[in-house]
Amino acid sequence: MLKIYILQLTYAFFNQLYQLVFPAYCFCCKQFCTINTYGLCNACSLQIAPVATIDIVITKNISVTVFAASFYQDPVKMLILAKQYQQMHACKAIGELIWAKTDTRFQEFDLIVPIPLHWTRYAKRGYNQAEEIAHVLGNKMHIPVVNLLKRTKATAFQATLSKDARSFNVADVFALAKEEYKNIYKNKRILLVDDLLTTGSTISSASKILLELKPTILKAAVGARVQ
Ligand SMILES: [Zn+2]
Repeated sequence: MLKIYILQLTYAFFNQLYQLVFPAYCFCCKQFCTINTYGLCNACSLQIAPVATIDIVITKNISVTVFAASFYQDPVKMLILAKQYQQMHACKAIGELIWAKTDTRFQEFDLIVPIPLHWTRYAKRGYNQAEEIAHVLGNKMHIPVVNLLKRTKATAFQATLSKDARSFNVADVFALAKEEYKNIYKNKRILLVDDLLTTGSTISSASKILLELKPTILKAAVGARVQ
């Protein structure tokens, strides 16, 4: 009994010490806080309002439903724009938010496909935000994250372009990463994942390539979408 009590005391002590050395820090309001959900303080996380799904038309008969955890506004905007050492924590928080705030958790999928970064941008940044978010969801759903797609050309950063330029910017930029994927991943239920949805042209271009695999279900989830 005494042993358990000492163990509990030791745990409480180190927990307090950890909080002192690494206090929880809100991504949005930059306040140190004790209650921290999705990398946000309680007040900031309460600002996240539910967002309705939208359907992006891909072909005459096919559209892709997109789930979004939030509109592209604070506090989720701050998570998407997180820099440097905070980025990985932010990706994890975005993944948790998609899981908690959207209907993706009620859906069944066989695999998750992140929107890829061009290798030049990947080399510069060292990681792909969409892929990190996809891994959080993959762990929740117990399904694999597969890099089915590759970018065939480097494109300008979407947020810096006008609406017309964005659609042009992502036309035909994706291809299957390996030709054999067409057979291996045929007739599967696929969830596409990206951090941010702007015009929908990225999801649309990626979906057109994935349709070659004849998926039985093709839907998408994003951290935030522009209103
Ligand atoms: Zn906050």
